[in-house]
Amino acid sequence: MKRREFVGAGLALTAAWPLRGFSAALKNVADVPVKTLAGGDVLIRGSSIEDFAASLRGNLLLQNHPDYERTRHIWNAAFDRRPAMIASCTGASDVKRAVDFARENQLLTAVRAGGHSFSGKSTCEGGFVIDLQQMQGVRVDPSIRRAHLEAGSLLGQLDHECAAFALATTAGTVSDTGAAGLTLGGGFGRLGRRFGLACDNVESFSLVTADGRFLRASPSENPDLHWGLRGGGGNFGIVTSIEYRLHRMNPTILGGYLIWPLDQARDVLRHYRDMATDAPDVVNLAFDLHWEEGKPYVGVEACWSGDDHTQGEAWLKRLRTFGKTDFDGIKPMPYVALQSSGDSRTPHGAHYYSKNGFVAQLTDDGIDRLVDLFPQTPDLYTVFSDHCGAAYRKTAADASAFPRRDMAFVVAIFAGWKNPAFSEGNVEKMRAAWREIEPLTKGFYTNYADAETKLAGYSENYGANFERLVALKAKYDPINLFRLNANVPPKI
Ligand SMILES: Cc1cc2nc3c(=O)[nH]c(=O)nc-3n(C[C@H](O)[C@H](O)[C@H](O)COP(=O)(O)OP(=O)(O)OC[C@H]3O[C@@H](n4cnc5c(N)ncnc54)[C@H](O)[C@@H]3O)c2cc1C
Repeated sequence: MKRREFVGAGLALTAAWPLRGFSAALKNVADVPVKTLAGGDVLIRGSSIEDFAASLRGNLLLQNHPDYERTRHIWNAAFDRRPAMIASCTGASDVKRAVDFARENQLLTAVRAGGHSFSGKSTCEGGFVIDLQQMQGVRVDPSIRRAHLEAGSLLGQLDHECAAFALATTAGTVSDTGAAGLTLGGGFGRLGRRFGLACDNVESFSLVTADGRFLRASPSENPDLHWGLRGGGGNFGIVTSIEYRLHRMNPTILGGYLIWPLDQARDVLRHYRDMATDAPDVVNLAFDLHWEEGKPYVGVEACWSGDDHTQGEAWLKRLRTFGKTDFDGIKPMPYVALQSSGDSRTPHGAHYYSKNGFVAQLTDDGIDRLVDLFPQTPDLYTVFSDHCGAAYRKTAADASAFPRRDMAFVVAIFAGWKNPAFSEGNVEKMRAAWREIEPLTKGFYTNYADAETKLAGYSENYGANFERLVALKAKYDPINLFRLNANVPPKI
């Protein structure tokens, strides 16, 4: 059978820094109605808009700007929103001016980095978007093993710059996801069992808070913010750059995808569960149930990031020789190749829907439920997982805002389709499938949350960290300017 080999996303890795002066002056701008935090509209005078635009180095995109259409779209086309204006920021200075403008006018404000929000939180209808896409660049200092990342950068850029120095840190599994959104919400990835969540590796953040202050958050400067930004999402300000601690790692890993027909899924997943539970921390094993050319399969993707590939071959043999595989793509390959291997499965511009939850363990009953349900929605969704444990557990649950350290796996269902006419039916089928799966789970990963997740759901999910997050929100964003996120209210 013809199988998808690992293909890169053709990601442009050059910085998109516009070499020009201040944005082209806006003239004769008409007054613009913009949605407010209170839910109404405010009419912003044309002259104020002109003054604001003139203060930026990047462009202020109104709906008639030639870049507006291209810029307004996010990855998930289910959120086809038309903001009233988009501030296309080129640096912290633009971000500060945009935050001041948003606060002074009480605007409904969305923050967009990589644009991969499942729940569409990085855009809004009729409001104001602070867009960081132009703020790209990663600088690695190998002598102290640090990476400095501009907040609009994508994960592929981070991985690429680190690999040249045989360094790495945890990043997600699709290379065109934004590093900022992923890190602020936690950040699972193929190296997470070895190095912890992406946010566990942040030495410092630079950010603009709701009152327009530019702050640094590290263990020694504003440590309360450093705590909250590691798992608390975009609640406390707009992060303009992130400093990551890096680790030595062989840039060639042993990894790839194994596939079995679905009729072996019960046995494969039990074997997978047992191996994943006992795996060394240099191993990441993620399972999926997926459709290919109309047929259902169970897959396991392995990543052995340890230096000793002979040891890795020996350890993975028990998986590769289990049952009768239909495809075995495990081989030595550049880590960055594995990191972009799944990009083509999640193209920009389709309509996506997802549900997820943490599981403490994959029980035999749970596995049976996943496998029994899967063929009932032909060719619609994929079940996928993140492999937790190991280094994810090394950070105490109250040492950062990220609340759920003790779980074994994240289990999610996920589907994408092009034609919006299918949306209602597909979403209904996904909801019905999730009603069956949800009882197996406890809590959810906020970065995979769907748009139906309500404030109370997020609050509960932050668990014992919630009250501390509320106090932090009251201190740094008492008006809840940054509310389009896994929101924490400034008071209970
Ligand atoms: C295809 C795909 C694959 C994924 N794979 C993984 C994975 O392997 N591991 C994992 O952990 N997650 C994964 N995710 C989830 C991912 O972590 C979230 O979608 C994350 O929010 C994406 O970040 P972004 O910058 O691209 O998002 P955006 O849509 O730009 O932003 C999402 C939210 O993050 C906040 N935000 C973003 N940037 C900033 C900033 N600079 N300052 C303040 N707030 C900010 C805002 O609240 C915003 O609403 C994946 C998502 C997708 C769509």
